[in-house]
Amino acid sequence: MTRKSAHARAELIYSRLEATYPDAKCALVFENPLQLLIATILSAQSTDKMVNTVTPALFKKYKSAKSFADADIADIEKRIHSTGFFRNKAKSIQNACRIIVETHGGKVPQQMDELLQLPGVARKTANVVLGVAFEKAEGVVVDTHVQRLSRRLNFSKEDRPQKIEEDLMKLFPRPQWIQLSHLLIHHGRALCHARKPECGKCPIEDLCTSPDKVMT
Ligand code: SF4
Repeated sequence: MTRKSAHARAELIYSRLEATYPDAKCALVFENPLQLLIATILSAQSTDKMVNTVTPALFKKYKSAKSFADADIADIEKRIHSTGFFRNKAKSIQNACRIIVETHGGKVPQQMDELLQLPGVARKTANVVLGVAFEKAEGVVVDTHVQRLSRRLNFSKEDRPQKIEEDLMKLFPRPQWIQLSHLLIHHGRALCHARKPECGKCPIEDLCTSPDKVMT
């Protein structure tokens, strides 16, 4: 496929997904950038649904980076226990909040390199915070759905999230980067499941040549 036709195909897939999922957005519930950062840290190896069950009480008790920084870590652990890996996550949240207080005046930084300095924050989390909380398109969020769909849709042949992200950034124009991941995540949840995708109902089936296709 030429570069031009790859871009045209990507554009077509984007517009069909956009028409299918006009309300696609981040599924995490949050009210400010700090809450989104913490919810995204909690979502690692968990689901947005599970995270949304623990965060209301967590955010009611801890309302600022300072309050997380000064918290009894055992209490944070207890409150986030059901999201898994709770000890590491509690430590990351508390240490990230300490840096936010000490270095950034209590406010979540808006630069990729500053976000990447925070414990528990890799590019995926940084892209979520930048894109969703600050509407800054610095990259593309590559989670497990985006990873799987990028390969199925031949947007990338890479396995590593960072390489997949680079391919997506070359294929799609910057103004689409934030919504692209929402659309792929929605499609992954709705139809393009890891096991047994529902290809018979898929709005982009004619554009997909994945060997994983299941036509029932
Ligand atoms: S045709 Fe099937 S494998 Fe391809 S994108 Fe649609 S649901 Fe996924």
